[in-house]
Formats: sequence, structure tokens, C-alpha cells
Amino acid sequence: ILILGIESSCDETAASVVKNGRIILSNVISSQIELHTLYGGVVPEIASRKHIERINQVIKQALSDANVTLDDIDAIGVTYGPGLVGALLVGVSEAKAIAYAKHLPLIGVHHIEGHVSANYIEYPELEPPFMCEIISGGHTHLVIVKDYGEFEILGRTRDDAAGEAFDKVARAIGLGYPGGPKIDKLSEEGNPDAIAFPRAKVEGAPYDFSFSGLKSAVLNYLNQCKMKDEPVNRADVAASFQKAVTDVLVDTAIRGARDFHVDKLAIAGGVASNRHLRAAMKEACQRETITFYHPSPIFCTDNAAMIGVAAYYEYQKGTRSDLDLNAVPNLKLGER
Ligand code: ATP
Ligand code: MG
Ligand code: FE
Repeated sequence: ILILGIESSCDETAASVVKNGRIILSNVISSQIELHTLYGGVVPEIASRKHIERINQVIKQALSDANVTLDDIDAIGVTYGPGLVGALLVGVSEAKAIAYAKHLPLIGVHHIEGHVSANYIEYPELEPPFMCEIISGGHTHLVIVKDYGEFEILGRTRDDAAGEAFDKVARAIGLGYPGGPKIDKLSEEGNPDAIAFPRAKVEGAPYDFSFSGLKSAVLNYLNQCKMKDEPVNRADVAASFQKAVTDVLVDTAIRGARDFHVDKLAIAGGVASNRHLRAAMKEACQRETITFYHPSPIFCTDNAAMIGVAAYYEYQKGTRSDLDLNAVPNLKLGER
């Protein structure tokens, strides 16, 4: 079975050909990061326009890299939410046009189900059930993946997503967009124990997250330095912030795995590519004899391979979308 995966929910235009659910024949990603860096964040109108300009070429490239044509494809999988509505619509319209013209089954894929499915690519032995911590630009969830595309949500963020916190702190210390990779890099030169930032817990909800207090603590620290006319060591701020986020993410995931007697833990989403987090999670899992799964960085951030993988398992379950499939910008996890 060959699936053409298409992703355009934010600022990556991506297409991929996936064979039998887990073999990636091609993975083309056209990122708009440089374009949006100018504005310090993703500008929705610009994102939509660029998706339109690039999507045909990206799909062509994905097919040619995989050495196939549209006639070899068995089904089309496309992200239909959540994301920016104008950006999503480009992928959805394109997928519908191809499905109609080629009489192919169409499968609308949940973007976050895609992120989770990225773990299947490099671990052929990984099968549900397992625990997954989803840590992306817009989501922070601790879930049990009960079956392919079936999630039991144990906890979620009460305010900012993990990636959002990285991006906001990066902006505050003048690193620009996107903040995650820049904080990851700068932290190498900083002392993670230099500044005592808070590790927030949510009363009575052991698997929920809250990052807005941490963000405020960083902003307060920067303001205090300014008032006292003290120089800010940005690398120390970055490293201390990164450690605070990591401590919370690792503690919560490990507590969840212990409480629910799960011995397989995966991470997913852009923040899962953070090097400090990966190392800390790996160490904690070893200590607890939990098997740790983490996609390569290229499969952590937005890509279409993960969409093709998720689409394959939906295809096997018989999920089909009609040609009136629409973009759903605020689609929740577990909804269709
Ligand atoms: P969502 O998937 O929730 O809809 P998104 O698609 O915008 O949001 P992703 O592509 O999963 O998010 O990830 C982007 C986020 O990951 C950004 O917030 C970015 O700063 C963060 N990120 C990327 N690389 C790293 C890194 N090395 N360390 C920390 N954060 C990172
Ligand atoms: Mg992106
Ligand atoms: Fe994403």
C-alpha cells in the first residue's frame, strides 16, 4: 500500500510517499521559516500564499524521490486540522483534487495523531499500547495510545504549550523565531543551574502542565536585571529555562508511566527534538526500565511522512473522508 501524505497546517509545505505504513520512500519539506523570521512569528496570510505557490512542486518532488507516479498511489492522507485555516485549506483542497481526479480514497488526518505516528517510522517493533508525551508548538498532552489513532488523555497544559514557552522566552531574550532550536543551541554555553526558575505543578491534576508561570518568571528575571542595571547572561537564562521545562516534562511523563504501569514511553512534536530533553528522558527511562522512543529530529517537527503513516493506519481501519472534507482549525485530539 502506497500513501501520499500531505501537510500544510502551519509553515511547512510537505509531501511524502509512505509504503505499508512505516517505510518512508520520500519526505519533502519546504519550510517557510526564513520568511516568517522577519516578522518574529508565522504570518497566516503569508503562510497560505506560500503553500499555494509551493505545494504542486513539493508533491511532484515527493513522487519523483519515491520513484513513483500518482498512478501507483493507493490513497491520499492530508492534515485537515488543527492548524491555521488558510494554510490547512491549501493541503486539503489539493488532496481532494488529486483524490477526485485519480479516483483515490481520501483520508483526513489529525495533525497531532500524525506527530504521535512519527514514532512508528524508526521503531518497526513499536505498537500500541504505549504512553506518549506530545510536546509541540501548540499542544502539550500526556496520553496513552490505546490503539492506532486512539488516545486516552491523562493530562494537558492549562495555559501555554511547551513549544510556545520556548518561542516566547526566545523572543524575550532576543533570539527570534523559531525559539526552540535557538534556545537548544545557546543552552550549550550556559549554566542550567544559574537561575532558579519554578517547576510548576497543577494542584490536584498530576498529569497536567502549566508553563505560563515559568515564562513570567523569566520575564521578571529579565526586568529585574534591567532595573538593577545588571548584564543578562542569555546563555544562562536559556539553559536554566530549558532545564526547568525539561524537569517538568520528564517528571510528569515518568510519573504517568509508573502510575499506569506502562513500560513504553514515546515523545512527539517539535519540542521532542530538544537535545537536553532527549538526554534527560533517556536517562530517566533507563533508571525506571522504561523503553524510550523518540523520532529523529526531522520527524519531530512538521512533516508529511508522519501524516502518511497515520493515514495508513486510518486506511486499515476503514476511515475514509468525503470530497466535502473541510479544514478544522481547532480540531481536538480524539475528535474526527
Ligand atoms: P502543533 O503541532 O501543536 O500544531 P506546530 O506544528 O507549530 O504546533 P511543531 O512543528 O510540532 O509545532 O513544533 C514546532 C515547535 O517546536 C516550536 O514551538 C519550536 O520552537 C519547537 N522546537 C523545535 N525544535 C526545538 C528544539 N530543538 N528545542 C525546543 N523546542 C523546539
Ligand atoms: Mg513549523
Ligand atoms: Fe506540528
